[in-house]
Amino acid sequence: MEKVPNKDNLQLLPERGFRFGWLYILIIISLILLSIPGFYFSPKEINWQEFEKNILSRHAVEKIDVVNNEIAEVYIKKIFVNDVYFKDVLQPKFGKELNPGPHYIFNIGSIEIFERKIEEVQKTFSENEKINITYVKRTNIFYEILPWIIPIFLILIMFKLFAQNTGLGGGGGASIFNFGRSTATLFEKENKSNITFNDVAGLEEAKQEIKEIVDFLKDPTTYTKLGAKIPKGVIIVGPPGTGKTLLAKAVAGEAQVPFFSLSGSEFVEMFVGVGASRVRDLFKKAKEKAPSIIFIDEIDAVGRSRGRNAFLTGANDERESTLNQLLTEMDGFGTNSGVIVLAATNRADMLDSALLRPGRFDRHIYLELPNFNERKAIFKVHLKPLIIENAVDSDFLAAQTPGFSGADIANICNEAALIAARRKKEKVEKQDFIDALERIVAGAEKKSKIISPDEKKIIAYHEAGHAVVSWLLKNVDPPVKVSIVPRGKSLGAAWYLPEEHQLRNTSQFTDMLCAALGGRASEEITFGDITSGALDDLEKVTKQAYTMVAFYGFNKKIGNISYYNSSGETGFQKPYSEETGKIIDDEVRILVENAYQQAKQLLLKNKDSLKTLAELLLQKEVVLKEDLEKILGKRSEVAIAK
Ligand code: ATP
Repeated sequence: MEKVPNKDNLQLLPERGFRFGWLYILIIISLILLSIPGFYFSPKEINWQEFEKNILSRHAVEKIDVVNNEIAEVYIKKIFVNDVYFKDVLQPKFGKELNPGPHYIFNIGSIEIFERKIEEVQKTFSENEKINITYVKRTNIFYEILPWIIPIFLILIMFKLFAQNTGLGGGGGASIFNFGRSTATLFEKENKSNITFNDVAGLEEAKQEIKEIVDFLKDPTTYTKLGAKIPKGVIIVGPPGTGKTLLAKAVAGEAQVPFFSLSGSEFVEMFVGVGASRVRDLFKKAKEKAPSIIFIDEIDAVGRSRGRNAFLTGANDERESTLNQLLTEMDGFGTNSGVIVLAATNRADMLDSALLRPGRFDRHIYLELPNFNERKAIFKVHLKPLIIENAVDSDFLAAQTPGFSGADIANICNEAALIAARRKKEKVEKQDFIDALERIVAGAEKKSKIISPDEKKIIAYHEAGHAVVSWLLKNVDPPVKVSIVPRGKSLGAAWYLPEEHQLRNTSQFTDMLCAALGGRASEEITFGDITSGALDDLEKVTKQAYTMVAFYGFNKKIGNISYYNSSGETGFQKPYSEETGKIIDDEVRILVENAYQQAKQLLLKNKDSLKTLAELLLQKEVVLKEDLEKILGKRSEVAIAK
C-alpha cells in the first residue's frame, strides 16, 4: 500500500529525531573557538628579539604574565594607542573599546634564561618603569576534556550508524529512541486517499460487504439500536493482484474516519519486544482517534500460525509475541471501542486460527480472479485515462485475458500505452494491446537470438506438434497463434484462447496432457530423436499428472482419496505409505506415457498437416488461426472428444 506522508500523518511516523548533524558541527566549532585563547582579540605572536628591539626599547610594557612557565603574555600601556607600531594590536576589532590584552605573546623557552634577560634589560630602566611580571598557572579545558569527548562522540556515531543499518529506528527517518512506536501512516479527512469505490471494478459482493463497514462507522446507531455490535475485523483474502489493497484504499477514501495503514512486515523486527510494542502503540493511537480503521496489508507476515514448523521456518518468539499482542488488542476489554481492523493476505491458510475466529476477524471476504464481466469492468477503469482508438473495445480485451488478475490488466493497459508511444502513435491501437498481451504472457521478442537453421527446424516442428494436437482435441483451448520467434526464455510459443471453467473433468485433463506432449511427440516422429526443448512441457505435465492422481482422485488404483492439504502445511512425512507412494509414481508414469502415445498417434495420422504447418512456420515465423484452419480444417468439424 502506497503511503503518503504529509504534515498530518508525520505525527505517526516516528518523529524525526533532532538533527544530530548540526549539533555535532556546532559542538566542534564552539570547542575549537573556545580553545583559542583570546579569540576575539587574538594576541600577536612574536619572538624575544622583536620583543626586546621594538617593545622593551619603547618602554611600552605594562605587565607580563608568564603562563605555565612557558608563554609570556605581554600587555602594552594604553597610552601607546596612537603609536603606529602598536596601533594594530591596541585598536579594537569590534566595538569601541581598546583591546584589553594580552597584546603579544611569545615562547620564553627556559624560565631562567627569560628572567635573566629581562633583568639585564631592566637594568637601564628607572624604578617606575620596571615591568611587573606575574606567574600564572592555567589549564585549557578543551585539552582536558578532549580525551573524554572523543570516545563518547565515536560511540554515538557508531550507535547511530548501527541503528540505521539494522532498521532499529523503524524506518521513515525514525530516531533510535522510538523504535517501539508504530510506523503506520495516517490518512485523515484533509489528506485522505483519493481512491473511491468507483475505482474498484467488479468485486461487487466484496464492495458490498466493505461498504457496510464504512456505513457502520458513518452512522453506527442504525445498527447499534438493534443491538448489533461493530464488527472488529475484516480480512480480505485473494490471489495476488486481485485488488485487496485497492479495496482498502477505497475504504480510506470513502470512510470519514482516520485510517491507519501499514504492512504486517513493519511489526517484525530482529529485536524482541519491538513488534508487540508497535502493536500496542498502533492500537493506542487508533483508539485515541476512534472511530477509526487500521489496515494491515500482508498480515501473514505477523499472523502466521504459532508453533507451525517452528524448526523449519525459524518461527521465533518475537513474531509470536507480536501476534499474541495483536490477538489481545483485538480481543481487548474495550469492545465497541470503534476501531475496525482491515487486513489483507493471499495466504489465509498460513494464518493462525485464533486470529480468524469470530470476535477478531469476524468477516472474511474472498476475492477471486475476475470473470469475463469483471475483467471488462476493470479494463474500462484502466482504459479511461488512455487515449485509445475506437476499435479498442473492452469486450475483446476481456475475452483475451482469462485468468488475468486486476493487476495484470492494469499492466497490459500501461504496456500497450508504452508500446504505442514507442511507435510514435497518436492513439493506442488494438494491435498495441495484442502486442502488450503477448509480451506479458511470453516475454519480449528476442529477434537477435542466434539460432541455427537446424534448431529452427526442430522448434518449428515442436510448435507445430503442439498446435496440431491442440487443434484436433476438443477439450483443449483452441490455438490462435503459433510463433517461432524467441521470446523471453522460450524459443517458440503457441497462444490459446482459454475458456473459463470452474470444473474440469478427466478427459479435459488428459487432453491437456496430450497437447502439452505434442511438441516432443512431433520431434520424435519427424527426426527420430528428442531434444531438451520440452523441459517446460514436461514440468507442467508431471505436476498436472501428480495432482490428477494424488489430489483429485482421478486414478482407479488410488481411488477417491486426496492427499491435498489445504492448510498448506508440509511436514517431514508424506501423508501416505511408501507403498502408496510407489503406486502414485507408477500411475503418474502410466498416465503420462498414455498421453504421449495418444499425441504420437494423432500426429502420425496427420503427418502431412504437421509438415505443412511446420514449413509454413519456418517460412513466416508466425502462423495465425486462419492458416491453421486452412491446413487442418475448421476446428468445430475436425476436433474430436476422446
Ligand atoms: P497483493 O496480494 O500482491 O498485495 P493486491 O490484491 O493487494 O495484491 P492490489 O495492490 O490491490 O492487489 O492491486 C494492484 C493493482 O491492480 C491496483 O493498483 C489496480 O491498478 C489493479 N486492480 C486490481 N484489482 C482491480 C479492480 N478490481 N479494479 C481496478 N483495478 C484493479
